[in-house]
Amino acid sequence: MAFHCRMCGTCCMYLGDYIAIERQVGPYEFECESVSTGTPFTAIVDDDKREIYLDSTWLDEHPTACRFLRPSGEHILCTIHGTSPAQCKFYRCVVMRVFDSQGVLIGKVTGTLALHSDNPELRGIWEAALREIPEWSADIEARLQKVLEGHGYRVG
Ligand code: SF4
Ligand code: SF4
Repeated sequence: MAFHCRMCGTCCMYLGDYIAIERQVGPYEFECESVSTGTPFTAIVDDDKREIYLDSTWLDEHPTACRFLRPSGEHILCTIHGTSPAQCKFYRCVVMRVFDSQGVLIGKVTGTLALHSDNPELRGIWEAALREIPEWSADIEARLQKVLEGHGYRVG
């Protein structure tokens, strides 16, 4: 399934402590550390986001958010997308939505293939499928989707 980020900013709302700014080294350039992996990186505010970056009003109202997050119209954007750490760039909050036969949403799967669902039957099927399909399988997401569809779920 292709992942489309809706630019809602939800995933960055509590990452203020995890994307640490060590020091400012230029008007729009910062030495930073991705705390969870201990990886240093240089953040440069994207050319087209400098205007919104300079207004930190929203950030004052959201103290737990990553310091590089800013609202822009109906979106909430990463202002350093070009230089953000790999785990930010490749993060996918939902790669599958699972619906029952009535079309009711009963589960969501993240990019790390973690299933979030209260449905014990679905959870059991998911766990069994993960045990059977090798982790390194390039088409693992498509294969998991097929397993779910084989059990009568709809995946979108
Ligand atoms: S990855 Fe998901 S939570 Fe994060 S901004 Fe995109 S849609 Fe929102
Ligand atoms: S660097 Fe960008 S993508 Fe990563 S947490 Fe901060 S705002 Fe989100």
